[in-house]
Amino acid sequence: MNYENIPDHISFSQVNTYLICPLRYRFQYIDKEEWQFKPAALTLGSAIHAAIEKYYTNHLESKRTSITDLQDVFDTRLYQDCAEVEMKFKTGKDPVEIQQQGHAMLDCFMKNVTPGEVLGVEEKFTLDVVDGATGETLDVPLVGRVDLIEQTEDGNIVFVDYKTSSSRYNEDSVQRNLQLTAYSLWAREAYSTGKKETVHLRFDVLLKNKTPLYLKYETQRTYQDAQRFVRMLLMISEAIREELFYPSPGWQCVDCPFKVSCVADPLA
Ligand code: SF4
Repeated sequence: MNYENIPDHISFSQVNTYLICPLRYRFQYIDKEEWQFKPAALTLGSAIHAAIEKYYTNHLESKRTSITDLQDVFDTRLYQDCAEVEMKFKTGKDPVEIQQQGHAMLDCFMKNVTPGEVLGVEEKFTLDVVDGATGETLDVPLVGRVDLIEQTEDGNIVFVDYKTSSSRYNEDSVQRNLQLTAYSLWAREAYSTGKKETVHLRFDVLLKNKTPLYLKYETQRTYQDAQRFVRMLLMISEAIREELFYPSPGWQCVDCPFKVSCVADPLA
């Protein structure tokens, strides 16, 4: 493999894609293939994300936000996505229904949001990753973006990621979630968190129910959790350099935008 094709950074999305299916990782990040379609759920999620980002940015700047402001941001993103790439809708769904669903979810958000003191919105980071036990360093930086950083009434600084979901999260999946662990790795550095202290994290989830719900899932990560993630990053990085891009068929194939390439690939 030409090493120039390997991304010059690693992100949680890359890690997650590699863990779900290494061949999909190759199509997406090494070969940079065009997506054959985009699942509508992904577009709904990113349009909701853009609207919530607008809310918190306004909040940080002491500006008021109306539901119409959020719906405008949502609609722009939704129809931009629909124009750029073919959308894959669940049976019986179309853009108008996605729009109605999104508006109902934003309405639920506006009725239930109770922001703490907002310290940061869409905070980008680039981090050199080092194994604290061996000193081994990852050859590329970890990059990411924390959706929201806020200080809660009890004085804790909390690192938040917004999600949309069709079902409630269970405690175990929140406790093990690697995206939040990646956030915690950066947060430790950025906020000089001692090894004995935990990092506070949260998922703010809008449920895509008929009557939407807004749920908050709080969790924490230790220094050991972050270091375990570092060792995972080192192993995944090595696997990528060793060109371990095997297919992993399963539930993940249903919405995979590289299905056609996968079937045609001699490795698959
Ligand atoms: S179709 Fe399935 S096995 Fe093939 S690349 Fe996509 S997720 Fe992997």
